Amino acid sequence: MKTIFKNIKQLVQVREETLKPLRGSEMKELPIIDNAWLLVEDGKIADFGKMQDLPSFEGVSEVDASGKFLLPGWIDSHTHLVYAGNREQEFIDRINGLTYEEIAEKGGGIVNSAIKLQETSEEELYLQSARRLEEVMKMGTTAIEIKSGYGLTTAAELKMLRVIKKLKENYKLPVKATFLGAHAIPPEYKNDKDGYLDLLVNEMIPKVAEEGLAEYVDIFCEKGYFSVEDTHRVLEAGQKYGLRPKIHVNQFNAISGIKAAVAHNALSVDHLEVMEPDDLDALEDSGTMPVALPSCSLFLGIPYSPARQILDAGLPLALATDYNPGSTPNGNMNLVISLACIKMKMNPEEAINAATINAAYAMDILDTHGSITKGKAANLILTEEIPSYGFMPYSFGANHIHSVYINGKNV
Ligand SMILES: [Zn+2]
Repeated sequence: MKTIFKNIKQLVQVREETLKPLRGSEMKELPIIDNAWLLVEDGKIADFGKMQDLPSFEGVSEVDASGKFLLPGWIDSHTHLVYAGNREQEFIDRINGLTYEEIAEKGGGIVNSAIKLQETSEEELYLQSARRLEEVMKMGTTAIEIKSGYGLTTAAELKMLRVIKKLKENYKLPVKATFLGAHAIPPEYKNDKDGYLDLLVNEMIPKVAEEGLAEYVDIFCEKGYFSVEDTHRVLEAGQKYGLRPKIHVNQFNAISGIKAAVAHNALSVDHLEVMEPDDLDALEDSGTMPVALPSCSLFLGIPYSPARQILDAGLPLALATDYNPGSTPNGNMNLVISLACIKMKMNPEEAINAATINAAYAMDILDTHGSITKGKAANLILTEEIPSYGFMPYSFGANHIHSVYINGKNV
């Protein structure tokens, strides 16, 4: 099965090979081919070039991409897309000035999401999550990471991870699962955090590994949640079972969690709204990708990750949505890219690199996804007729995507 895209206004993010993520000033470059064609064969990018050099192909279906841009699909390396119910009442209560405690009493917060999830059947949880996945795929997401962490009991955490596994089986895009049992301390362990960590380390992680339900381990390393010491303990336990760390850190406070993550060879450190010079130093010469989540900053009204500081330090940067019911009820990568440009002062080239190549690295799929490279999966975005790729972040909040392809198939 072959498909040819012809008369592409610009083929974007064309790379001969992608061995490493892009760092610092490298992120300013976004290689393109004007007036191009691209051939998809057996779900992969088979060949591409300039229209003037178009060879003749037989038995191919044609897509006329006149006036349109073709680029690699977005890669969302940080989401909590599997959850039960929504929390819009909490959102309204917050607007009306209720305190955090009052909201928790009325049924808000992570703990209440956990109660709702524990009460929801695996089938119902799957149906709700599959709907969200289909929604984000239509908005250009062609690979996704999904975390547990709204279960907070062994049974409910395993239920979440089984739902992720089922999504992985039923949808053709890459899906990676992260065990985030250390998302919050459940109420029954309110005064016994170590007791919960014992359960997590001695029971949850071994069971998750035994059923092969996760690739990564995560922890919310933050004042009032889990300490750096707890982080070392959980990451070490995860690594013993082959789960590489990808952690929530530096959202509200810098407490040296990044250093801890790097010490455990974390694949990524995510959030980073607050960054100290020590944190930037810890990331230098590491294989750990910093990941910013600007939609979360928008929704909560907290600072945005200091992208310029991170890039000026010569570090790489990836972008993701953090799609979750509490702080980011939105999985739109196009909005993330706009916010990165508008609020974090990234230019469109940097933002697109952060949402494709570097995001692929943050999901460990850079050898197969994230760029227009021969042999990579044909996970593609075809835009509407727009004047330039910079128009996408500029004209924020609108949909500029004509169609999305996963393994060469229109979704
Ligand atoms: Zn998150």
